[in-house]
Amino acid sequence: MQGLKEAWDRFWSAPDAAMLLAGGEGERQVANVRVVVVALLLITPVYRLVQNPTNAENIWGFLVTLAAMFFAIGVYAYLRRRSYRPWLGFLTSSVDGSLVTLALALFVIVGSPLDGVNDKITFEVYFLVIMSLSLRQDRRICLTVGGFILLEYMAIVGWVVAGFDVDVLYKHYTYNGAFSGADQWTRFILMAGATFISYAYVVRSQALVNRAIRDPMTGLLNRAYFDRLFENEITRARRYQHSFAVVVVDADHFKRINDTHGHAAGDAVLKVLARTLQQNLRQSDLVVRFGGEEFVLLLVETEAMAAHAKAEALRQAVARLVVGAPQHAIQFTISAGIAVYPDDGTVAHVLLSRADQRLMQAKNTGRNRVVGGLAA
Ligand code: GH3
Ligand code: MG
Ligand code: MG
Repeated sequence: MQGLKEAWDRFWSAPDAAMLLAGGEGERQVANVRVVVVALLLITPVYRLVQNPTNAENIWGFLVTLAAMFFAIGVYAYLRRRSYRPWLGFLTSSVDGSLVTLALALFVIVGSPLDGVNDKITFEVYFLVIMSLSLRQDRRICLTVGGFILLEYMAIVGWVVAGFDVDVLYKHYTYNGAFSGADQWTRFILMAGATFISYAYVVRSQALVNRAIRDPMTGLLNRAYFDRLFENEITRARRYQHSFAVVVVDADHFKRINDTHGHAAGDAVLKVLARTLQQNLRQSDLVVRFGGEEFVLLLVETEAMAAHAKAEALRQAVARLVVGAPQHAIQFTISAGIAVYPDDGTVAHVLLSRADQRLMQAKNTGRNRVVGGLAA
């Protein structure tokens, strides 16, 4: 039971900052493609409407595609001004799928019900929608929305089978062929298969993204990726007039640990240090392995006083750690330098070098201490 809940929590957890960023880029790509595809899809209904303006099917076909066009332009405009959140991905992909379902439902209502289940083009648009699910880089969206779209299509098929005599319909209307249960089951399986592929793609791409942005030993974010997140944080802090703190942390006399206990023991200490930093900060704070035994923390929405208190608490937590077996127990300390946005600087390199200078100060005044921020 416990294992099941953990697996569920892991599956349902929101994408991390890196995947969210990638998902937002994907959502924008989908928004661009949606505008172009819907504009192209609009050609046929417009043509049909001009040919026969009084035909109900033509009118409805045109109206549904027009609604899709408004939706496409709306999402495109929204994304130009606002940042992407997962709910938007859930919403846009569900609406995309439901528009296809709506078109099929309209075939059933105003056209021939056989078109609802046998149409040669509309059904295939489901696959464009399912393929694009993976661009949101969110496992949850792939499986839930893929499943949702499948259920919608099953409902259409159930409706036609339960509500109409498909054999009688076929006698009057042969254009798209007879109803075949086996064909419908195959369609369900193909939709489920496509959903699973889009899910597998996200899991795979998450593994690749993690490999690119994380340090393999500690699992912390690496420096290359940090630069990008740092810029994002500055933009956000400026817009919302928040402050945030940059803390540079360096293990004291680490060379001695390596020399005394060996490199493997040094690695073990670094892993414990990384875990301790991560566990003592909020989920929204960033912990980066900057290189060697040096780490950078980005404490979001944090002012000078809170930053100092937090770094000081970390220093004390590390000083209490005992790593390794009792007979070779290793104890160690860290020093930290803090710079706060906007008081100490408003650009990344200035903030980093201020924090670095203060780290040096901490080292030169005896180590195992925090310099910068506002001491209580
Ligand atoms: P200080 O208090 O001035 O920071 O002294 P220090 O010995 O920590 O600093 P120094 O920069 O002289 O040495 C850092 C050491 O950290 C040297 C290097 O071998 C070790 N180190 C860097 N990366 C790793 C690693 O991934 N694993 C291990 N085991 N050691 C590492
Ligand atoms: Mg050091
Ligand atoms: Mg160092």
